[in-house]
Amino acid sequence: MSNKWVYLFKEGNAGMKALLGGKGANLAEMSNIGLPVPQGFTVTTEACTEYYNQNMKLSDEIRTQIDESLKIIESQTEKQFGNKENPLLVSVRSGAKFSMPGMMDTILNLGLNDETVAGIAKITNNERFAFDSYRRFIQMFGDVVQEISKEKFDRVLDDAKEANAYQDDTQLTAEDLKKIVVAYKKIIKDETGKDFPMDPKEQLLMAIEAVFRSWNNNRAISYRNMNDIPHDIGTAVNVQSMVYGNMGDDSGTGVAFTRNPATGENKLYGEFLINAQGEDVVAGIRTPKDINDLKDIMPDIYQQFHDTANLLENHYKDMQDIEFTIEKGKLYMLQTRTGKRTAAAALCAATEMVEEGLITKEEAILRLDPVSLDQLLHPTFETAALAAAELLATGLPASPGAATGKVYFTAESVCTAVANGEETILVRKETSPEDIEGMYAANGILTARGGMTSHAAVVARGMGKCCVAGCESIKVDEASRQFIVGGMVFKEGDYISLNGSTGKVYKGSIKTMTPELSGHFGEIMAWADEYRTLNVRTNADTPRDAEVAVRFGAEGIGLCRTEHMFFDEVRIPIVRRMILASTKAQREEALAKILPMQKKDFIGIYKAMEGRPVTVRLLDPPLHEFLPTEEKDIAALATDIGITNDDMIAVISGLKEFNPMLGHRGCRLAITYPEIAEMQTRAIMEAAIEAKEAYGFDVVPEIMIPLIGIKEELTYLDEVVRKIAEQVKAEKKSDIKYLVGTMMEIPRATLIADQIAETAEFFSFGTNDLTQMTYGFSRDDAGKFITDYKEKGILKNDPFESIDIEGVGKLVETGVTLGRQTKPDLKVGVCGEHGGDPKSIYFFHKVGLDYVSCSPFRVPIARLAAAQAAL
Ligand code: ADP
Ligand code: MG
Ligand code: MG
Repeated sequence: MSNKWVYLFKEGNAGMKALLGGKGANLAEMSNIGLPVPQGFTVTTEACTEYYNQNMKLSDEIRTQIDESLKIIESQTEKQFGNKENPLLVSVRSGAKFSMPGMMDTILNLGLNDETVAGIAKITNNERFAFDSYRRFIQMFGDVVQEISKEKFDRVLDDAKEANAYQDDTQLTAEDLKKIVVAYKKIIKDETGKDFPMDPKEQLLMAIEAVFRSWNNNRAISYRNMNDIPHDIGTAVNVQSMVYGNMGDDSGTGVAFTRNPATGENKLYGEFLINAQGEDVVAGIRTPKDINDLKDIMPDIYQQFHDTANLLENHYKDMQDIEFTIEKGKLYMLQTRTGKRTAAAALCAATEMVEEGLITKEEAILRLDPVSLDQLLHPTFETAALAAAELLATGLPASPGAATGKVYFTAESVCTAVANGEETILVRKETSPEDIEGMYAANGILTARGGMTSHAAVVARGMGKCCVAGCESIKVDEASRQFIVGGMVFKEGDYISLNGSTGKVYKGSIKTMTPELSGHFGEIMAWADEYRTLNVRTNADTPRDAEVAVRFGAEGIGLCRTEHMFFDEVRIPIVRRMILASTKAQREEALAKILPMQKKDFIGIYKAMEGRPVTVRLLDPPLHEFLPTEEKDIAALATDIGITNDDMIAVISGLKEFNPMLGHRGCRLAITYPEIAEMQTRAIMEAAIEAKEAYGFDVVPEIMIPLIGIKEELTYLDEVVRKIAEQVKAEKKSDIKYLVGTMMEIPRATLIADQIAETAEFFSFGTNDLTQMTYGFSRDDAGKFITDYKEKGILKNDPFESIDIEGVGKLVETGVTLGRQTKPDLKVGVCGEHGGDPKSIYFFHKVGLDYVSCSPFRVPIARLAAAQAAL
């Protein structure tokens, strides 16, 4: 059986990217729709695989087919390989299914030798050009095909320039270049032991094999690893007859986008050079002109190019990135592909294409990358200001956005500075819950330690605050209030700037721009809302977060963590007194002081949510998290409570746990101290009733009990909560509705979800804890080994970023199915980081959740991803 290894351009089409590579498939498509594409053929990706199967040899069958195709090209162009008078020259261009930098560079002018070079000199009437092309060809061939180091060639060129006292390559004459060609051929001979191949066919086969070999060079392999591209799909090779943009002032070459790739504006964007060959535009030897200037220089060609660009965009129904060459007043198309664009350009182009009738709303929605929306929601640096900035260090891009301000090393000093109207950056070795207020107040957060799931990173993302974490090259000395980086000392009050999207830290202040949620953004979001069936809620602990989330389109709060409200300067001493109480009476006394504060918070949140549902989780973290760690704070607390310092230390160490994440937390706290749950329930209910009276919103609070694993835990606490809730209703003569439900985050709970649903009125999957407990990976320590796991191929993705569908996902699915067996209309959602991750959202949609809940800045991402999941 014989295989087809080689396709003429006219035999292929755009749908054949896997076989012909992206470049080859689009060259074929363009020739078939009648565009002027120089003749050529593509050796397939399957031929590449076959080459490897045959121990890196081109089989006879492949060689024969290359030969036959070449003959056809010769007859079509009326030129011949190796012909002295009218030689055919070709380019050899690699092109895989996915655009892939790192593979072999394009070789131009293949087919030149000692004889054909004279023919080219005659045809182009330019001996200098012919020999310059020849020496470039030998150099490129030596470099990319024969792997001879570039420097050897460069040295010859430099020597020639020095001997003649030239500044520039362009000063080299035809005679100089002829000598250089001789010297280059000698390098090839010395290095390979063989003469430079004079036979164009031999040159061609060697070049094709070199492209196939480059598929497995280190650069290409690591690019594929980074971008999840399979290693076994191979690359294609395109062989295409040359056209010359450098044949005089009626020739040229250029690159253009059909729309502006930075803004999306519907206007040709690009550049060109008169009298130049392809590589010159990128090489930066001469400054290219704006594509729109071509209108004045070559009006007809401009019109033709403009029309072709429109045609291509209409044909592909997407923004194109086009390469072209003009030879003696004739336009040739050399490449087209989907243009890479910024998030802003993508939004603008997608909405305008819908208005133009080019694509449907569904296509517009499916085409956008939800995660890229993030770029549009945060401040950015002004481009000019950023270009002038000095880079100090690079850490992890923990939470996106740009921030600038004076450095402060404690949450307290940040708050004071902000109160004085200063812009600040909080710099810490790592942050802890005590830093929350400072993190809020600062423009940005920089930490020296910790990964993408460290406290600083998670909290900052939740707040939508710029954060660079784990920036290990800065040495933070919190005691003397300074940090050192690259020998420079930064003291309290010195300016730095952070880019949380790249992890870069800059010296000094850089001007930032606030985002505009422009018309295009709103339009896309409205379309997304038409299609999605999954609701999108937010995780918000404060009225401020809630307001931001509502602006971004949140339809409720899926998780309000009450403990974050406890860290406030005024409250923490009372919270500590509550924790350290030795009798129930003492505890209740402290709780009575906390009650009005919590109530006030809830009223603020209900007000911001304007009647949308709010799920409040009862106290969750282990109590010792609220206790001081620093000596002076411990001493102060001892005095406050009226015990000795030593007693205080003993009490605190008594609360320490070996494994607090699996310790006395969540519902376990409320089971030991029901009065905490009672106080919180009272605050939630009284606030709802008062908010309804004050603002007229019908608030239906959803009280969520965390960390349930045993049915009886829930029935016990359900009774505690309902008793108080009913009591409050009676006291206030209110018939307000409320729900009591649970967080599903312990694997056991998902397995007995049918029993849990007998009591619970709703489920919310806490996939952070569920992932942690399903894998047995501590969230706070997994950063240390997950990278190794990924490098060794043990894990493909970090399960804390994207839900593990096979394992954790199965528990979610089981929980939903069992829960709805008991209560068919059980409301089920998800809160936690996965609620804002598009891949996870597709899964949550599929298993039939009612809503996802994510941090405020993820809400638009979730809305778009939910629409994509529904389409
Ligand atoms: P890349 O993938 O790096 O863009 P290409 O294969 O597109 O590499 O080649 C780079 C440039 O070389 C093209 O943009 C074009 O200007 C020039 N080029 C390639 N093939 C030809 C050809 N047959 N005739 C003229 N110029 C060519
Ligand atoms: Mg190209
Ligand atoms: Mg949890």
